[in-house]
Amino acid sequence: MMGIALIALVGGKAEGGQEVLPLIPWPVEIERGTGQYVLAGGAQVCYGPGAQELADLMVAELEKTTGLKLASPAAADLGERVVVIGESATLPSNLSPPAFPEAYLLQVTADSVVLAGGDRAGLLWAFRTWQQLLHEEQGQWSSPAVFIRDYPRFPRRSLLLDPARNFLSLDALKRQVDLLSAFKFNVLHFHLTDDQGWRFESKAFPRLQEVGGEGRFYTQEQLRELVAYAQARGVTVMPEMDMPGHSTALLAAFPELSCSGKPVEVSHTVGIHPNALCPAKEEVYEFLQPLLAEVAAVFPSEFIHIGSDEVMATDWEQCPACDKLLAENSLEGKKGLHAYFLRRVSEIIVGLGKRTLAWDEVTEFAPAGVVIQAWRRQSWAEVAARQGREAVVSPILYTYVDYNRLLLPLRRCYSFDPVPAGLLPEEAKLILGGGANLWGEWATEDRLDLQLYPRLLALAEVYWSPPEQKNYPDFLLRLDQVRTKLEAQGVRFGDVNPAMVWDTVKLVGKGVQIAAGMLVK
Ligand SMILES: [Zn+2]
Repeated sequence: MMGIALIALVGGKAEGGQEVLPLIPWPVEIERGTGQYVLAGGAQVCYGPGAQELADLMVAELEKTTGLKLASPAAADLGERVVVIGESATLPSNLSPPAFPEAYLLQVTADSVVLAGGDRAGLLWAFRTWQQLLHEEQGQWSSPAVFIRDYPRFPRRSLLLDPARNFLSLDALKRQVDLLSAFKFNVLHFHLTDDQGWRFESKAFPRLQEVGGEGRFYTQEQLRELVAYAQARGVTVMPEMDMPGHSTALLAAFPELSCSGKPVEVSHTVGIHPNALCPAKEEVYEFLQPLLAEVAAVFPSEFIHIGSDEVMATDWEQCPACDKLLAENSLEGKKGLHAYFLRRVSEIIVGLGKRTLAWDEVTEFAPAGVVIQAWRRQSWAEVAARQGREAVVSPILYTYVDYNRLLLPLRRCYSFDPVPAGLLPEEAKLILGGGANLWGEWATEDRLDLQLYPRLLALAEVYWSPPEQKNYPDFLLRLDQVRTKLEAQGVRFGDVNPAMVWDTVKLVGKGVQIAAGMLVK
C-alpha cells in the first residue's frame, strides 16, 4: 500500500514499473525506502552546532515553497553540521556526517528528514537534494523515503555569465545563482570585462566604468551583495578580468596603456578585436596592481581569472618598447611577450593572496601555479595535467551553451567526460572540474533561461555524478519531471533556436572545424 502511495506521489514511471525520482544530478548511492515523509506545520528544523545560519536559510526557503513557517530550535544533542526536520530532533545512531568536502547524507523516513554534511556545502547539498524530492499533491507536501550518500566527482562546477557583452541585472544574476545552487554548481564565473564593456566599479580608476562601462557597471557594494548572496547558497563568485586582449573597453578609458597609445572606443560589435595592453610598459603593471587589489578585496574567491585568450595584439609587432623587452630578456615573438605579461600579472595576483586562472592559450608558457581552463579543445587540459598543472575544462564542443541546440545538442552535453582519456590516475586528479560557458553576445537577460535549460542540467550531472552511473535515457526521464517543476517556478526551457547563422560564423571564426554530422545528433 505504501509503495503504491509512493508511486502516486512522484509521478512518472521508468520502464519496469519503478517510479522515477526527480533528482539531478544523480547521487553516488541511493537506497529507496517505503512510505514517505509528510511535511506539516508541526515540524521543526532542528540544528546542531554550526548549522544555525543554514537552518535559517532552510526555514526561509521552505516557507517560500510550501507556505509553512517552521520553528528552528538549536538541538545540542545533534552533531555538528546536522539538521533534522521533523517533530523531534532525534538523530538515528547509525548516522554520522561524512568527513570530506561537500559530501552529505540524506535520510528520509516516515518520521523525519535527516541532513548531515561533511562541511557547510555538504549540508546545503543535502537540503538541495531533499528539495528536489519534496512534492506537493492536493495541498500536502511530502517526499519519498530514501537514504542517500553523495559527494561530487569534481570540486569545481561552474557557469560563466558574461555581462560585458550584454549587461545583466543583479536580480537576474541572483535568480541564476538560485538555480546553480539547486543543481549543486558552486562557482559563478563572472566575465566582467571585455571589448564591449567594463562592468567593475574601480574607485582608484573610475574612468574604467564611466568610459569603459559607458555607465553600465556594478558598484562594489552591489558586487559584495551578490557575493554574499551566492556564498550563502554555496556558490563562489569568481571574477574574470580579461587581459591583455579583450581590453578595448579598458583602453577606451586609458589608451596610454596600449603600445601605440592611440584612442579607441568601446566596441559595439562582436568578434575578436586586436586591441591589447602593452606588456612592455611598466605603467601597465602600476595600473593593474591597485586595480587587481580592488578586485581581490571585493571577491573572496580563491582565483582571479585573467582571461588571456584570443590575444591578437597586432600592436605588439610595431612597438619599440616591446622590441626592447624582447631583446633584453631573450624572449621570442608574441608568445614571449605574452609569457612575460602573464608572469608579471600572476606575481601581482599571488601577492594579493590569490591564484591565477587563464584560458588555454597560455598552457605552454604559463608560470607554475597558474591553472588552465581548456576551451578550444579538451586536449589542452591533458597538456596541462601532463605538466603537473591543475586544469578545469569547458570545451567549446561540449559546454558552450551560447550555441544553439542544433550545434550543441543536449545529448552531446551529457556525453562529455571532463577527464581527458589517457591521463594517469595522478594526472587525472589535476582536473579540478569544469563548467558551462554562456557568452553574452546574444545572451540578453531574457534569453538566459532559454540557452541554459535544459543543457545546464546535463552538465550538472557531468561534473557531479560518477561516470559509471550516467545514463542518458534515465536522465531524460528525470529531466521531464524536473522540467515540470522548474517551469512551474517560471524557468523557461529553450528549444532549438534559429540563431544558426551566427553560431556557424562564430565557430569558424574561432578556428573550430565543424565536423560532418556535428549539426544534428
Ligand atoms: Zn608594446
